[in-house]
Amino acid sequence: MTRAATATIDLQALQYNLQRVRESAANARVISVIKANGYGHGMLRVAEALSSSDAFAVAKIEEAVTLREAGITQPILLLEGFADATELALLAQHAIDAVIHHQAQITLLEQTPLASPLKVWLKIDTGMHRLGVNVDDALTSYRRLQACASQACANVADEIVVMSHFANADDRSDPSTAAQLKQFNLATAEIDAAHSLANSAAILAHKESHAAWVRPGIMLYGVSPFIDAVAADDRLKAVMTLSSKLIAINHYKKGDALGYGGSWCCPEDMSVGVVAIGYGDGYPRAARAGTPVLINGQRVPLVGRVSMDMLCVDLRQLPAAAIGDRAVLWGAGLPVEEIAQCANTIPYELLCRVTQRVQFTEIE
Ligand SMILES: *Cc1c(COP(=O)(O)O)cnc(C)c1O
Repeated sequence: MTRAATATIDLQALQYNLQRVRESAANARVISVIKANGYGHGMLRVAEALSSSDAFAVAKIEEAVTLREAGITQPILLLEGFADATELALLAQHAIDAVIHHQAQITLLEQTPLASPLKVWLKIDTGMHRLGVNVDDALTSYRRLQACASQACANVADEIVVMSHFANADDRSDPSTAAQLKQFNLATAEIDAAHSLANSAAILAHKESHAAWVRPGIMLYGVSPFIDAVAADDRLKAVMTLSSKLIAINHYKKGDALGYGGSWCCPEDMSVGVVAIGYGDGYPRAARAGTPVLINGQRVPLVGRVSMDMLCVDLRQLPAAAIGDRAVLWGAGLPVEEIAQCANTIPYELLCRVTQRVQFTEIE
């Protein structure tokens, strides 16, 4: 049995986008960010397709352990680090590297003997105000980690990376990115370590931030990181195409109300197509009337409210449409950036929220 709603994952596009990262940041090592199930594309599939990455980053310890258990041998960085001694031991056991963003984690490291030294990345808060040690504490935090590395029973590996994260790099005109970089350089002036700052937006727009390690996420999946652009503007290729099928074509009279709430009424006698996909599959319920859907490659507008399993499209401009025709909700030919705007959200959220009810297939 094949399900109508399908997410097609283009593995070559993934590799092409990684190549775009390499071109953009030629001297940096690349840590591919594959958290949240590879931004909804399937974490293991993405890790395998991007095996030429220098390392991988995930947010949760379960994700990191899953990668190791699947035989991924590249360095894996846990972006949220460990929460307690049990997690710390698990990281050491699986050779998973940890972001250190809080004094409590340093204290735990100082107090916990480990079977083998842990590689750590010290995160400094330069203005994002989410995770990271204060700029004023950066040097002492680094020295404490260094001390852990130089003890006889060293539980921190020698090469410590210092990192920070940008809050507004998606807006090219926002001056806070340059201000954060300046803060970072001041805070690390007396630290002799590799640096890592750049997410996708900074990889494309802030060369001066590239440093030793870049951390691309969204651009690997073929999505523009900028608020005012689509993938093609940055020569990226969409990796996920979400599609389904027309399962009914109905003819209604002028004034007939469509779907739950009857919020949309036919302005004239017309044909309406029903596509087998809804918010139960991860298509956003917030998508407003007029959001484009591709039927046989041609744009038609969404009408009425998106329901759990279905949505309706206006077929007035497409009289040749037939039951069984392919409907593309986003991906090749229809930028997910545009759909996100119509649903008042960002592409990141749409990609992560595609549910397991959708059939995932790969093209190579
Ligand atoms: C998610 C994340 C990234 C990747 O960000 P994109 O905008 O998807 O490129 C990089 N660094 C950190 C710390 C992250 O949490």
